[in-house]
Amino acid sequence: MDFQKIKHYADFCVVGGGLAGMCAAISAARGGSKVVLIQDRPVLGGNASSEIRMWISGASGSNNRETGLIEEIELTSLWRNPDKNYYIWDGILYEKVRSEKNITLLLNCSVCDAEMQENTIVSVTGWQTTTQRWHTVQASYFADCSGDSVLAPLTGAQYRVGREAASEFGEKTSQGTADLQTMGMSCLMQFRKTDRPSEFIPPAWALELPEEVLRFRVPNLNATAENFWYLELGGNRDSIHDTEEIRDELVALAYGMLNYIKNSGKFPDAAYWELDWMGFLPGKRESRRMIGPLLMT
Ligand SMILES: Cc1cc2nc3c(=O)[nH]c(=O)nc-3n(C[C@H](O)[C@H](O)[C@H](O)COP(=O)(O)OP(=O)(O)OC[C@H]3O[C@@H](n4cnc5c(N)ncnc54)[C@H](O)[C@@H]3O)c2cc1C
Repeated sequence: MDFQKIKHYADFCVVGGGLAGMCAAISAARGGSKVVLIQDRPVLGGNASSEIRMWISGASGSNNRETGLIEEIELTSLWRNPDKNYYIWDGILYEKVRSEKNITLLLNCSVCDAEMQENTIVSVTGWQTTTQRWHTVQASYFADCSGDSVLAPLTGAQYRVGREAASEFGEKTSQGTADLQTMGMSCLMQFRKTDRPSEFIPPAWALELPEEVLRFRVPNLNATAENFWYLELGGNRDSIHDTEEIRDELVALAYGMLNYIKNSGKFPDAAYWELDWMGFLPGKRESRRMIGPLLMT
């Protein structure tokens, strides 16, 4: 069987179609550059897509807010998606990229190789699962917006993982010695109220959640902001290579929470709540950090 090899030529190639990659691609395209945006998922948005469901919540205080393209996207959503429906949101992100004639969008395409000439990237190559094609993109400039800095190991660029020692930058919040700890990952679960009762039969692999574990964070289904982001694991593990195992544990933990809510007898109207949605792709808060000419401390 032959797998086609497609070659693309661009001014600018962006790896990763989360918000960072989308904004980089759109602003370059609007400035007149020919852009290829490569995203390994079926939808755009990364952590802020329907697959993970982290809303954009960077600057949103009384005297600060997101501006530029992020604001443009958020305003479109406010107008056309006031109920914050995640599928409509996916459509808005898709449309923002699709409407740029200078962007070639490669979805379901995972970059797994890079060709170098001395210290410069010449091209990157990705496998597109839906078409079973290899796509190679040759470009003048590349942006790694993969969240995992995937181009660092592929090109030999320097990167860091974990926490620095306090002595390195004199930061008060750091600890004595450097370590590999990162923030953990979460698989979000969302519930909805129904007008008919339903039961939940837990699978044998659901984790049992003892009361003493739950005492600090009792679920409150009626709170509008109740999201189970606090089911978080993996900060003391490798947030790239251990992802599949951490996902298995997160899913078992989430089903354990569902079992507790539905079957513990602690929630009087539990029969009228059902699981609406649960992510199987962990939302990753932190992994590799590429080292550039400037380091922000
Ligand atoms: C649970 C959780 C809570 C958070 N809370 C907050 C908060 O309160 N405030 C805040 O400001 N931030 C928060 N964040 C962080 C915020 O979500 C991220 O900083 C932001 O989403 C990063 O955007 P990004 O585009 O850089 O990366 P991502 O959203 O991770 O997008 C990167 C994309 O690149 C794709 N990709 C990866 N590898 C490849 C490859 N080899 N080829 C092609 N594509 C690839 C990925 O699939 C992904 O879709 C939170 C994150 C999580 C997970």
